[in-house]
Amino acid sequence: MRIGIDLGGHTLIAALISGMEGTPGRVGIERTIAGNTPSGRCIADVMSAMAGTIAELARGHDVSGVGVAVPGMVDVDRRHNRRLPNFPIEWDDLDISETLSRELKLRGCQLPVAIENDANCYALGEGIAGEAVGMSDFIVLTMGTGIGGGIVAGGRLLTGAHGMAGEVGHVVVGGEKPCGCGGVGHAETLAAADGTSKRAEMAGLPGDFKELWAKRGEPLASSVLDETLDAMARTIATVYHVLDPEIVIIGGGMSRAPGLRESLHERTTPYLSRPFKNMLDVRISKLGNDAALYGAASIAL
Ligand SMILES: [Zn+2]
Repeated sequence: MRIGIDLGGHTLIAALISGMEGTPGRVGIERTIAGNTPSGRCIADVMSAMAGTIAELARGHDVSGVGVAVPGMVDVDRRHNRRLPNFPIEWDDLDISETLSRELKLRGCQLPVAIENDANCYALGEGIAGEAVGMSDFIVLTMGTGIGGGIVAGGRLLTGAHGMAGEVGHVVVGGEKPCGCGGVGHAETLAAADGTSKRAEMAGLPGDFKELWAKRGEPLASSVLDETLDAMARTIATVYHVLDPEIVIIGGGMSRAPGLRESLHERTTPYLSRPFKNMLDVRISKLGNDAALYGAASIAL
């Protein structure tokens, strides 16, 4: 058994997962505990909440390790995070593995802890039990407040020279809008829920993506969504040309919009070079929020 944790800005979800050590039987979630991330998100409170949840899940089970999906960039050694954008500055360069292991020891739990970027975990999860089972080359885009990305190439998670590969949300699609990351003209500024919601509200439309999507037949809503879909299409075409994946999986809150897959397929095709046009295969995540839990558990030592 392993424990996978999805640490978000608002929610903290942990799952006990079986079948990952090559033992007979299917990989599956045995039990999940979902709670809120402590408000203020200070290190001591979050570590204590994670350790308490892990200890509760591990009780009475043979658990070999813990993996944590973190919402930010992680260092090449997969121990320290570089920056968690929605967490206090005290988290910068924190050795999460060490800190959480220490907290666990205080509760009588001796378990190794590994960390990975949350969108990377999402991609690994889809490869283990989701849309990409049996595939060696695929990309996940998690569409929500921002856009996360995870790339599996040649059967391995692409991490890059500095540990930061796969930041698909920061593909340059044009425009002058400053991105929260410090760059300009990134996909996330136009295609993520936050950017879309701002444009919608300026046009007097609902900022909520689900409500806006429901109005997509109306000209005003359609023009706002057009910019969102175009930025996503440019991003998907770019990753296809660079990485030649078998599929691109769309996950995250926005992925549940009915007909999104078909719209993206239609919008992406014109941007692709001829050999890629027939290969384009956009899918919607099969596991949803569970993907990151499976992925996190898979990196546990
Ligand atoms: Zn950016």
